[in-house]
Order: sequence, then structure tokens, then C-alpha cells
Amino acid sequence: MPFAALALSDQLVRATQDLHYQGPTPIQQAAIPAVLAGHDVLACAQTGSGKTAAFVLPLLQKYQHYRTQINALDVDSRPKHKSVQTLILVPTRELAVQVAETIRGLSKRLPELPKLACVYGGVSINPQMMGLRGGADIVVATPGRLLDLIAQNALRINAVQQLVLDEADRLFDLGFSDELNRILALLPLERQNLFFSATFAPAVQELAEKLLRKPTRIEIEATPVAAPDIWQRAIEVDEAARTMLLRHLLQERGWQRVLVFVATQYAAEHVAKKLKRAGIKAEAFHGSFEQGKRSQVISDIKASRIQVVVATDLAARGIDIAQLPAVVNYDLPRSSTDYTHRIGRTGRAGERGEAVSLISADFAAHFKVLEKQLGLKLERERIAGFEPTETFSSKAVSLVADDHGGIKGKRKSKKDKLREAAALAAKPLE
Ligand code: AMP
Repeated sequence: MPFAALALSDQLVRATQDLHYQGPTPIQQAAIPAVLAGHDVLACAQTGSGKTAAFVLPLLQKYQHYRTQINALDVDSRPKHKSVQTLILVPTRELAVQVAETIRGLSKRLPELPKLACVYGGVSINPQMMGLRGGADIVVATPGRLLDLIAQNALRINAVQQLVLDEADRLFDLGFSDELNRILALLPLERQNLFFSATFAPAVQELAEKLLRKPTRIEIEATPVAAPDIWQRAIEVDEAARTMLLRHLLQERGWQRVLVFVATQYAAEHVAKKLKRAGIKAEAFHGSFEQGKRSQVISDIKASRIQVVVATDLAARGIDIAQLPAVVNYDLPRSSTDYTHRIGRTGRAGERGEAVSLISADFAAHFKVLEKQLGLKLERERIAGFEPTETFSSKAVSLVADDHGGIKGKRKSKKDKLREAAALAAKPLE
């Protein structure tokens, strides 16, 4: 089926050709007519399915229609300011940028370009406020920054005609549910809602039910790419020998790109610094970075200008690197969900991946708990020259941040808790 069969305008069809789209993907075939017909949509969609264009194309067509209506009014009756017609909420800055790029790419041939604003946190708010002067037609936003801009009177969302929630499950994962509720309360009741999510946990399901009216449900069978082929390994090593072992693995395994997970921002900086000192091209990646620096690190690893990115869990959520041969759990993840998110960064698009967890004596019991939750049982390996000297016991431990920002396996004393509270107050949160 060609795009032209979907009742899209010539300009939009030509834009898909400019971008070398071969023809609509299954989700585009299902979503485009439903959105054009004004239905709410509930789509179960993975990244890579073409979901972005599945909502961008019909929304641009609606924008074209809206423009035609405005232009038909006599000049005095036309609105003086643009009012936000379409609001697209996304969980991360990286996704905001990607969605905005798709909108720009697909709107290139329209006779009148929509005014697009792409707003996200972690960068100065002033240029975004300036960009919103005179209003905007389409806004792509992360929830927190959108609310900040509304609080500063930089935009209003009370005339929104279409709301898109993209990657709704990740909006919840990243703790945006309060912000979402506050945003929903500011929207007009009469609007079209498009809801995209890869998974439907109860909270996501509940929001979908609250939000959507008689939605068209779209569930595209995942393209039969093979289940990710990830070799999961657990290597026992002394805590103090982890960096040396990591260097050894980098050499022995010949990984071109590696994502190394640590527990704290401090650890990210510290481990990256130690690797750099050893002549390895490594960079830290965490939530305190400015957007420019984050984009730089991502494009550097994609272009193989650096080999290792040392990241915290939260910051790494926004990273999508095709062809990532390995991830290393330098510090173990706190939860089984984090473990799954971390190892899912490798073994994409049919490639083989390797996920190595470094297990020190203090965390052996914690890793056993994770394995049990995940229904996993990994053989414990020891690497010649890096055999642990510490005794591995099965004593339960809690994961507690120590003074250096690393994680230590010990129970929190009252003093520890006070120290932690003080450190938290002094440190920027991710
Ligand atoms: P998404 O699932 O929206 O993240 O899209 C994944 C990638 O597929 C993006 O790089 C798009 O440019 C590309 N894409 C989207 N629709 C099509 C299509 N119909 N044909 C080929 N590529 C597409």
C-alpha cells in the first residue's frame, strides 16, 4: 500500500518520499486513517515501528486543514496569536528532539509551516520562552518543563485540539504521573487523544482508560525480529579491582562501544576519570549534564569517537545506541526492573549482545535476590588474575550510598542516614 492510499495530502506524501519511506508501516496503516477520522487512539507500539510518523503525518494534515480554515476568515477575524493546537508529551529530552526532527522533516513541503516549539528541562528556560513569543502551533514537551513554562505565562494549553502521549509507560517510569495530572487539568475537555505505549502496566492502563473516549485500539504484532540474543554473565571480583577488570574485559572482548552502569553521578565521573587516565576514551553521562554535553556524549559514542560511556540508570534511559555490543554493571542495579532496562540496551536489531555484572562479596546476596526475581541463574565466573580475595557470603545487605558516592553493602546507621540526608540536600538531584 502506498502512502497516497491513506488520504494524505500530496505535500505530505512527497515528504515521505523525501525521507525515503518505502510505504506505510503497519502502525502507520492503522493509525493514520483513525487519527484523520478524529478518533482517539490507543496504540501498543515499540520504538522502531514507525510510531512517530504514525501520529505526525495525520496531525500535520489536520494542521493544514486548520490553516485553510483560518485563511478563509477575513483578516480582522483571524486570531492575533497562535494557540497551541497540538501538544505532544514525551518522557525525555532525546525523544523530544527526535519527535521534533520528524515533524520538521515531514512538514517541509507544506505551503505554510507550523510553528513548532520543542521544550525540555535541563537547559536554560529563557530561549524556550523567547521561542514561544507569538504562540506556537505544535508543542513537543517533557512534562516538568511544560508546567514551568505555563507557570511563567509563556504558553497556554487551553485550546489544544490534539494531545499525544508518546512512550506513556516511560513517562510513568520516570515519575511524571503528578505532572501529567496537572497538565490534563489544564487542557480543554473537548479534544482528540492519542496514546502510545510499549507496555501497559496497571498505572498506564488506568490513565489510558481515564483519558480516551472509545479509542481505536491498535496492537501491531512486533515485527518478528528474534528475541534479543544477550549473553548474560556474572563475574566475581573484589570491589577495588573492578576498574582493572573492566580494562581487561575491554581489551579481551574487543568491544567497540560499551555502556557501563554505576550507581551515582560521583561514581560516573570517578570511573570515567580512571579509564581516561588509563588511555581509554571514556566519558561520564549523568543527569547533571547540560543538554549540549549530553548530546555531545551520545553523538561521540555513536560515531565511535569514544568507546565507553559511564552512566547512571536515570540518565541512560534516554540513550538509544544501535549496535551496542556490551553493557557492564559496574555497580549492580537496585531493582530487577533496572537490570532489565540496563541489559536491554544491548543485543538490539538482531545483533548479539553481552551483559556483564561485576559481583563483589558485599553484593553477592543482592545479586541472588535479583536473579530470583528475574527467574535467572547465572554461573559465577572468575577471571584469572582478578580472583576475589574477599569472602562471598549469602548475608543480606542493603544498598547504601557511602561518603564517596559509591555503594556499600551495610545497614544504615542513624549517623549514615543523617549524612545521606545532608548530602542529598547539597547535591543536585537527577
Ligand atoms: P519510530 O518508531 O517512530 O522511532 O521510527 C523509527 C525509524 O523508522 C525512524 O528513523 C523513521 O525515520 C523511520 N520510519 C518511519 N516510518 C517509516 C516508513 N514508513 N518507512 C521507512 N522508515 C520509516
